[in-house]
Amino acid sequence: MVQSSVLGFPRQGVNRDLKKATEAYWGGKLSQKDLLAEGKRLRQEHWKIQKDAGVDVIPSNDFSYYDHVLDHIQLFGAIPERYSKYKLDPIDEFFAMGRGLQKPHSPDAAAVDVPALEMVKWFDSNYHYVKPTLQDGQEFKLAANPKPVVEFLEAKEAGIITRPVLVGPVSFLALGKADRGQNVVPISLLHKLLPIYEELLTKLKEAGAENVQIDEPCLVFDLPPKVKNAFKPAYDRLTSLGSKIPQLVVATYFGDIVHNQDVLPSMSSLYGLHIDVVRNPEQLDTVMGALGEKQVLSVGVVDGRNIWKTNFKRAIETVEHAVQKLGKDRVIVASSSSLLHTPHTLASEKKLDEEVRDWFSFAVEKTKELAIIAKAVTDGPASVREQLQANAKSMESRATSKRTNDPKVKERQSKITEEMFNRKSAFPTRIAQQQQKLKLPMFPTTTIGSFPQTKEIRVQRNKLTKGEITEKEYEEFIEKEIQDVVKIQDELDLDVYVHGEPERNDMVQYFGERLTGYEFTTHAWVQSYGSRCVRPPIIVGDISRPAPMTVKESKYAASISKKPMKGMLTGPITCLRWSYPRDDIHQSVQAQQLALALRDEVVDLESAGVYVIQVDEPALREGLPLRQGLERQNYLDWAVKSFRLSVAGVQDSTQIHSHFCYSEFQDFFHAIAALDADVLSIENSKSDAKLLKVFVDEAYPRHIGPGVYDIHSPRIPSEEEIKERIQEMLTYLSPDQLWVDPDCGLKTRQWKETKAALTNMVNAAKFYRQKY
Ligand code: GLN
Ligand code: ZN
Repeated sequence: MVQSSVLGFPRQGVNRDLKKATEAYWGGKLSQKDLLAEGKRLRQEHWKIQKDAGVDVIPSNDFSYYDHVLDHIQLFGAIPERYSKYKLDPIDEFFAMGRGLQKPHSPDAAAVDVPALEMVKWFDSNYHYVKPTLQDGQEFKLAANPKPVVEFLEAKEAGIITRPVLVGPVSFLALGKADRGQNVVPISLLHKLLPIYEELLTKLKEAGAENVQIDEPCLVFDLPPKVKNAFKPAYDRLTSLGSKIPQLVVATYFGDIVHNQDVLPSMSSLYGLHIDVVRNPEQLDTVMGALGEKQVLSVGVVDGRNIWKTNFKRAIETVEHAVQKLGKDRVIVASSSSLLHTPHTLASEKKLDEEVRDWFSFAVEKTKELAIIAKAVTDGPASVREQLQANAKSMESRATSKRTNDPKVKERQSKITEEMFNRKSAFPTRIAQQQQKLKLPMFPTTTIGSFPQTKEIRVQRNKLTKGEITEKEYEEFIEKEIQDVVKIQDELDLDVYVHGEPERNDMVQYFGERLTGYEFTTHAWVQSYGSRCVRPPIIVGDISRPAPMTVKESKYAASISKKPMKGMLTGPITCLRWSYPRDDIHQSVQAQQLALALRDEVVDLESAGVYVIQVDEPALREGLPLRQGLERQNYLDWAVKSFRLSVAGVQDSTQIHSHFCYSEFQDFFHAIAALDADVLSIENSKSDAKLLKVFVDEAYPRHIGPGVYDIHSPRIPSEEEIKERIQEMLTYLSPDQLWVDPDCGLKTRQWKETKAALTNMVNAAKFYRQKY
């Protein structure tokens, strides 16, 4: 029979229960015991959901209190000494690596002060993983009670034999990096890491695991030869253990593996392979051709990255095609990737329009889809006739609905001219005019947009949603918040102010709610990093802007501040990438619709007296197709064009900023330069200042503010530390082009630490201002 399988289930629970528990634990309001109990409850609940849905292969060890790669860092004892030296409780050491830890000296423990490990985007998703950070002479050691074994046994006790999920050894290393000041090439550590996998897999087998899902998603990349050549010895060695270890299913997702298929024969001793045929359906035949004689293929036909109902007809055809070649026992119907990237359940959505609801499917619903598809193929379509008919009806309804198609938007798109992509003058002319208007000092200081989203802000927003206060009362509250942050920025003596974004729940959702073509959910949260969850809006139809979206707040803020106020917008690519996009028209078309809407907003802001406008595009890089080549070039072309289309309507004297939450631009620097933004603010405090070298090498002429401190952590950077950081930056950037700002927005921080950190930052900037 054809089995159904889930590669991973969302961890947060139906009401972001895990977020609430971990945050309560961090805040000292929940005991460790209660946190662990909550974790256990969630795991049990999620296994049961899948079991009740009829899923055959249910994952374990997909759960994590923070991030699954971080779990592996701890599991393998790859813990840098700066954490291990404190001899913290394992879970506290785990969180210290994930989010940093700063704790004063107490009667029973020494003070702790350690920043977080680097966290980066997981492939092209909006999930972040903690980067394995490795030392010269790195040794590994399996943790005493290996989490995968513990959780396998926990499920077993609950009557469910799961398939534990591990990050594979090659990907674990390939996704890692050498620690600061270290030279180790991660993949060269493979021979030291493999014995740990052997030990772990043996323990899993002893515990009763028959199969293990071993994720090697880096197979979708263009791999350096060293990494590519590492697969054969790694998997030869593991599979040589025969029945001492479980059968291994190597899982890949978010891309095709055809360009790496020469690696596959070397993996023919594996039990099975998983591929993503939602993203790359065309790889199916090639991969089937490269399979070993008995190997099983797990076919990912249910989208783990989007919320659209699966088209059963199409999915069944795909699976049947595989069955024809391989037979029913060698095919598994699976989610394309872990369902981590989808919200928990559609059942929580009480406010969705019925027409639209019928087009969606979240994690819980997707588990049911998997079971239905497997049954349709195993027992024939008649066995699930009703479900197939209902599904066909939903597909038809979406394709023909008026909601998906707005002729006015299409007409405007057809009238876009070449000029609309270009500013009036080149940068030298613009910056001279901007300087005249804005009169900024050297090393201007600014922040990235948001200030702490306090409890009070959330309370008031909730009250508005529930109708407990009027629009007017809410507006007054927001104005008061803006007054407060303007006053604080006066006190801090920053140079370019922001209004603090108190009215925004989320940088994409806020815009989505003001645009036509979007739909929203009330509970559809997905994990972005650690305990942070986002609720991406859904692009359902053609997009347009019925009215200004941010002008009122920015105009007010500008009117009460004595320094330039920066307007704050989310760029077209980020709006697209951090929403669930449509899967019925190309993403470039959706980006262009967004750009036109934002263009109107930018021009309206300028008319309202806002002469510095930041259009955030942190998602630009994560949208990069994972491989080099034509596909990537095409993406960058339309992505850059949509940014330019959104900002180019302004006068030369209006300063356009853009912001990115990273500083690895080497691969696509020409695109960053082509944005033609007057000022870029970028992450840099957690990465190497060396990354700024590309700006020198390419003679980048415009202004840059590489973040001088990490905002993901509550830790307060000292003035000295920031000065050192700026000094390092000055080895690459000229003093005339350098801005001083934090890595990103401050919404997740508390006021106390924010003020302290910014005070140090402004003092550091002033120090250099005097020096030059
Ligand atoms: N302007 C946004 C903020 O400050 C930027 C956030 C981001 O880049 N992720 O919150
Ligand atoms: Zn950012």
